[in-house]
Amino acid sequence: MRMTKYDYDLFTIGAGSGGVRASRLAASYGARVGVAEEYRVGGTCVIRGCVPKKLMVYASEFGHAFEEAKGYGWTAENVSFDWKTLIANKDEEIDRLNGIYIRNLKNAGADIFESRAVVKDPHTVHLVKENRDVTAERILIATGGAPWVDESVPGHELGVTSNEVFHLEKLPRHVVIAGGGYIAVEFACIFKGLGAEVTLVYRGEDILRYFDRCISVQVHDELKRLGIHVLTQAVFTKIEAAGGDEKRVHLSTGTVLDADLVFWAVGRKPSTQGLGLAEAGVKLGKNGEVIVDEFSKSSVDSIYAIGDVTDRVNLTPVAIREGAAFAETTYNNNPQSMDYAFIPAAVFSQPPVGSVGYSEYDARKKFGAVDIYKTDFRPMKNTLSGSQQRTMMKLIVDAASDRVVGCHIVGEGAPEMIQCLAIAVKAGVTKKQFDETCALHPTAAEELVTMKTKWVPNL
Ligand code: NDP
Repeated sequence: MRMTKYDYDLFTIGAGSGGVRASRLAASYGARVGVAEEYRVGGTCVIRGCVPKKLMVYASEFGHAFEEAKGYGWTAENVSFDWKTLIANKDEEIDRLNGIYIRNLKNAGADIFESRAVVKDPHTVHLVKENRDVTAERILIATGGAPWVDESVPGHELGVTSNEVFHLEKLPRHVVIAGGGYIAVEFACIFKGLGAEVTLVYRGEDILRYFDRCISVQVHDELKRLGIHVLTQAVFTKIEAAGGDEKRVHLSTGTVLDADLVFWAVGRKPSTQGLGLAEAGVKLGKNGEVIVDEFSKSSVDSIYAIGDVTDRVNLTPVAIREGAAFAETTYNNNPQSMDYAFIPAAVFSQPPVGSVGYSEYDARKKFGAVDIYKTDFRPMKNTLSGSQQRTMMKLIVDAASDRVVGCHIVGEGAPEMIQCLAIAVKAGVTKKQFDETCALHPTAAEELVTMKTKWVPNL
C-alpha cells in the first residue's frame, strides 16, 4: 500500500470521453482515482453529442431512402415518422451507454461522485453536492465545453442549443438555425430529412469555413439541393415570441423568419466558468480554455487538463488520446504526447464530409507548389434512384515530395473512406502509391486511385 497524504492520487473533474479514458487507465496502473461528474457519465459525445446525433442522422436518412427506393421498384406508400419513438429509442440507447461508462469506471476501481466539483487549491477539490473537500496529488480538468449563445440578441433565450435539441417534445415544423459549422449543418440535414422546413443563417459566405473550400461549396450546393434555405451574410438581431410555440426571427438583412424551433449553433466555449481555476493559479486563455503544455500540464504543476476544455482540437478521439497520453506519462512511466498531425474529421451532413490533412489553401501556404486532383460525379446508386446528389473527391499533393497531404470527400460513405485513408496519409503515402493501388470496382472510392489528370481551378 502506497502512503500518501492525499485522499486520491488523481481526481478527475468531468466524466466525458477524455476524463473517463484518463481515469480508467490511471486506475489500471494502480492510481487511486476519484471522478466527479455534474450531469451524466459519458459526457457530451455520448449523452448529447456525437452518438445521439448520429442516431438522428440515421433516422433522417430514411426520409430520403423511401423516396429513392421507388426507382429501384419499391413502393413505400403512407410512410410516416414518429418523433416520440425515435427519441425514446435514442434515450434507451444513451442510457445503456451511460451504464457501460459507469460500470467501466467502477470496474477499473475509480470512485464516482455525482456532483459538481470545483478546484479549491492545487490539491483540493470541493464537491458541491456533498459540501465537502477531497484532496488529490493531481487534479485533471476534463470538463469539456458548452454551447454559447449570443446574449446580446434580444430574445436569445427563445432559442435552444445542442443541449436541448435532443429532448424536444415534438418534431418542429420550421427550424431556423444560426451558424454554419458542424452542428448547424448536421442538424439542418437531420431536420430536413425528418420533414421540417429548415433555414440556415450564416454570418459569412462559405459554410464549414475551416474545411477545404471545395467542401464548403459542395456542401452548400447539397444543402440547397435538399431544399434547405441557406442565407449567408446574415445574423440574428432579435427573436420574438409569436404565440404558442411560434417565434419570429429578425435578421441583420431585414428578413423576418417564422419558426417553431430556433436553434443556436454558433460554437462552443471551454467549460471553466466558476471552476476556481484562475484562483488556484491556473492560466486560462481568452476563451477561458486551460493553457497546457504538450503533456497536458497547466501552469500549476499538480493540475492537468485534456479535451475540449483546452481548446486544442475539439474532437472526441483527440480528447481520448490526450487522456491516454496523460495517464501513460504520469502513471505508467511512459511519456507520451498527442500528435496533432493528420487528424481525420467528418461532418455528418447529407451527404457527409470526410477530410484529412491540409486544405488546398493551407497546403499552398505550407508547401508552395501543390498538385490538385479532383473529381465530381453522380454516384451509381443515384442513377436509378433519381437523386441528384453528387460525390466530390479531392487530393492535395505536395509537388516536391509527391506526398498526399490532403484528402477531402463529400459523398455517401465519405467518413468511412477517410478513416481508412487517414492511415495511409498519416504514414506518408505518395500519389504514385495511390496510382499503383488497384481499383475496387464498382465503388465510389475507386475514383481515389484512378484520378490521373491534375485539376486546374476555373479562376
Ligand atoms: P463550429 O465552430 O463548428 O461553428 C460555429 C459556427 O458559428 C461557425 O459557422 C461560425 O461562423 C458561427 N459563429 C460564431 N460566432 C458567431 C456569432 N457571434 N454570430 C453568428 N455566427 C457565429 O461550432 P459548432 O457549434 O457547430 O460545433 C462546436 C464544435 O463541436 C465543433 O467545432 C467541433 O469541434 C465539435 N463537433 C464535431 C462534430 C463532428 O466531429 N462531426 C459534430 C458536432 C460538433 P464562422 O465560420 O464565420 O466563424
